[in-house]
Amino acid sequence: MTRSQVMARIKKKDTKPELVVRRLLTELGYRYRLHRSDLPGNPDIAFIGRKRAIFCHGCFWHQHGCANTRTPKSNLDYWTPKLARNIARDKAARELLRQMGWKSLIVWECERKSPALSRKLERFIGQ
Ligand SMILES: [Zn+2]
Repeated sequence: MTRSQVMARIKKKDTKPELVVRRLLTELGYRYRLHRSDLPGNPDIAFIGRKRAIFCHGCFWHQHGCANTRTPKSNLDYWTPKLARNIARDKAARELLRQMGWKSLIVWECERKSPALSRKLERFIGQ
């Protein structure tokens, strides 16, 4: 197998939460914008006219607290402040969005296979 065939195969299996959400939104018929750097927190997905933003978060990086959330056992001097900064940044971004009249939603990595995700997205966008 060539390198590009390997890459293609990996790509197909890519189940990053953001890609799952994007696929569902397309199926639901929504148009969206990606990675708007002019919005607080640089949301992964944004609906400008509807003022809705979606953040797709990894359970570890944003410390979801679910069963998938690993907690670092070593290098705590590095990880503890780093993860705390992520959480603080998420919170500040959502608060800024709220002040701008936006609503935001977090889709967690562990939700990407949930059959309820599509309904959750629809509810949020249609709110
Ligand atoms: Zn999770």
